[in-house]
Amino acid sequence: MKYHSTRDKSKSLTGGEAIIKGISEDGGLFVPESFPMLPDLKTMLEMSYQGIAQLILELYLTDFTSDEIKKAVAQAYDSKFETEWIVPLAVKGDAVFLELFHGPTFAFKDMALSILPYLLKTALEKSGIKEEIVILVATSGDTGKAALEGFKDVQGTKVIVFFPEEGVSPIQRKQMLTQEGENTFVVRLNGNFDDAQNGVKKMFGDEEFNQLLSENGFVLSSANSINIGRLIPQIIYYVYGYLQLIKENVIRMGDSVNVAVPTGNFGNILAAYYAKEMGLPISKLICASNDNRILTDFFQSGTYDRRRKLMTTSSPSMDILISSNLERFMYHTSGEDESLIREKMDELSNDGVYRYQSEGDIVYPDMATEEEISYWIEFLHKKEDYIMDPHTAVAYCAYKKYCDQSADRNVTMIASTASPYKFSDKVLKSIGVEFTGCDEFEKLNLLSERMHTPVPDKLAELELLPIKHDHISDTGNMKEVTLKLLKGGV
Ligand SMILES: *Cc1c(COP(=O)(O)O)cnc(C)c1O
Repeated sequence: MKYHSTRDKSKSLTGGEAIIKGISEDGGLFVPESFPMLPDLKTMLEMSYQGIAQLILELYLTDFTSDEIKKAVAQAYDSKFETEWIVPLAVKGDAVFLELFHGPTFAFKDMALSILPYLLKTALEKSGIKEEIVILVATSGDTGKAALEGFKDVQGTKVIVFFPEEGVSPIQRKQMLTQEGENTFVVRLNGNFDDAQNGVKKMFGDEEFNQLLSENGFVLSSANSINIGRLIPQIIYYVYGYLQLIKENVIRMGDSVNVAVPTGNFGNILAAYYAKEMGLPISKLICASNDNRILTDFFQSGTYDRRRKLMTTSSPSMDILISSNLERFMYHTSGEDESLIREKMDELSNDGVYRYQSEGDIVYPDMATEEEISYWIEFLHKKEDYIMDPHTAVAYCAYKKYCDQSADRNVTMIASTASPYKFSDKVLKSIGVEFTGCDEFEKLNLLSERMHTPVPDKLAELELLPIKHDHISDTGNMKEVTLKLLKGGV
């Protein structure tokens, strides 16, 4: 399997090379040259999460040996997940939740970021690269912590995370600032997520800067969802989820299902599209946005327009105006039209807007306001005694809207992307629990009573952990800060 750039098909890399590079020099993202087909689903029914992971990774990473993949899978999907199922399903009324938040940082980013370091390490060993790898991360909250945890003390790597000072939840902030590990750096950025993402993208594209790093023995790589090594592991849980639905008699073999995904950078939902292209019977992709409804507008009108103010919402991991992975989706659905992608992405960076009418109607776009998020959190709590986090509630709301206006009654898998414990304010407010004067940890206890589960240890512990990182950066000097951290001049 080779990987091309969405902006230049003549580029051809192995999976390992694409994972190391993260992003192509032309600004494009790496995409597989074709979609491998899944084997007969019947043969996969009894497989564990790890078994399915092995199978899917082997289809995409043909330059890795079976054994290398096996080791990576075993180290990634182990007891650091709260449940041996890795991704349990919760059937609640007419909705099925694919709970992707039982990893070490309680958000779905763990699904890919617990394996990426091992894939990257293996790729590095094969490539003979001698430099130390620097993982640069821009985060809207969850990626940062998941990357720090994943890469913590992984030999030959350093990880630097930029998070927007205004725009992550108190728990997310504390999770990052207390990060342990000799090779981890966390920087608070005076700006929003798009500023962070743009700054990081610029560093990747800056030849002079990369030259300078190389002279100092470093090479940049990315753990953001633009890295193909993030995308591929996310396919696993859609396949696994589908098979669990069969085993639990919710659907029968071959039935079509829909998926509803709370969407920011378009990575999670894109993985569902890849699963569909590989033969998994997925019908609709319900693309759910919050008040930053840029994708809803795009899919409804054909105009992608980032010339608007980014809003801070209760689902901060989706507060994004530049959905990077949409580029991959457009590439695949336009018949791999690289020149069209170049043109549109140039328009986006020069004018902040482009028009593109996507073919077909695989995607159903919709959004949820803050009131709607609260409404549906409370609704499901009352009706099913089940509590969703605000991101998941955005997807649930879009799913409800879809049901209202469509006769389609396919079972829908709702990607449940974060533990409610990470976003206790909004959840408690929604279900009508008074918490004035409570600190973060008292709030977790209040929520614990309603969830009928203990506060996860790793979150309860945060209260006692010391702050380890105090770096700050403006949007204009991310490069300088990065250099300083790497050279140890802290
Ligand atoms: C990252 C994230 C999302 C958005 O996922 P994308 O792949 O960026 O679309 C949604 N919910 C949570 C909790 C997240 O951490």
